[in-house]
Amino acid sequence: MNPSGVEVSVVIPVWNEAKHLSQSLKTIVTFIQKANCCFELIVVDDGSTDDTWKIITLARDEIPELEGIRLSRNFGKERALCAGLEHARGLAVIVMDGDLQHPPDLIPQMIDQWRTKGVKIIECVKKSRSKESIGYRLGTKIFYGLIKKLARQDLHGASDFKLLDRVVVEAWAKMPERITFFRGMTAWLGFPRVELEFDVAPRIDGKTSWSHITLVNLALHAVVAFTSWPLRLVTILGMLSFVGAVLLGIQTLYMKFVGIAVTGFTTVILLLLCMNSMIMLSIGILGEYIAAIYDEVKGRPRYVVSQRTWAQSIDEGLAH
Ligand code: UDP
Ligand code: MG
Repeated sequence: MNPSGVEVSVVIPVWNEAKHLSQSLKTIVTFIQKANCCFELIVVDDGSTDDTWKIITLARDEIPELEGIRLSRNFGKERALCAGLEHARGLAVIVMDGDLQHPPDLIPQMIDQWRTKGVKIIECVKKSRSKESIGYRLGTKIFYGLIKKLARQDLHGASDFKLLDRVVVEAWAKMPERITFFRGMTAWLGFPRVELEFDVAPRIDGKTSWSHITLVNLALHAVVAFTSWPLRLVTILGMLSFVGAVLLGIQTLYMKFVGIAVTGFTTVILLLLCMNSMIMLSIGILGEYIAAIYDEVKGRPRYVVSQRTWAQSIDEGLAH
């Protein structure tokens, strides 16, 4: 047992979920209690602008195991997750959403499998994506296809609903990057794992915080964070266009010498368009990596804590 005596920590990042948070927390707690364990519930308020923090502090009257962390502004779910994981003390940590889209009835089964099978990661994978729009499904297919091909990691169906053993959390904590992609990081870590399938429940209230733009952003971050293959692609494109340039150069010289050099307007325009877009794409790819390097070297904290439900100075929060 660890000194705190906590066996399982449940980490929940929330942002503007005031309307249904207390109901969600109660439901989640009923299911954890079924597993008969000493637990703590760590709810991270990711800079909500509604009454979420108030609800968290009030919910402590009914749920004594609940601890809240309030971030100084909205840092995004990935960083809120980091805050929760870094504060969790349990021998196992369950990470889940606060909108009941991750079914809490799986919690007893997750804890049971962790206790009996000795697995280090329990991965809950989405069974069906039937309720998602065709565009969204196509986008995720392309994204996970890219990650699988380029970074050799199969994240298809992966979600942020997981149980991590303490050893995994400790190994994760040693990954120093500022730009985090939780799903990919846990896949990269390895460790024996089992998968549990679940159906994504409809959101109980409100709407998803992911717009198309933030999703594309996340996907770009993830690709850049996980593989340097796009950079290699630039080199390969450069080599191919060099070969093309040599062949076309020979043809152009030949046509000049035999005196038929005037035609070819269409070719010139097409070549210009192709080459320019290839150059722009290459600069864009380089830019993505430079931006990522810039973000990493700045070395800013992943998040800033402004308040907690337990007594600690604000300075400690800044240390993360
Ligand atoms: N969330 C967060 N910070 C954000 C956006 C979302 O902590 O900036 C939380 C949100 O409150 C929820 C979870 O992350 O508990 C998943 O968010 P959401 O339901 O919007 O995403 P989806 O389920 O559509 O993937
Ligand atoms: Mg959701």
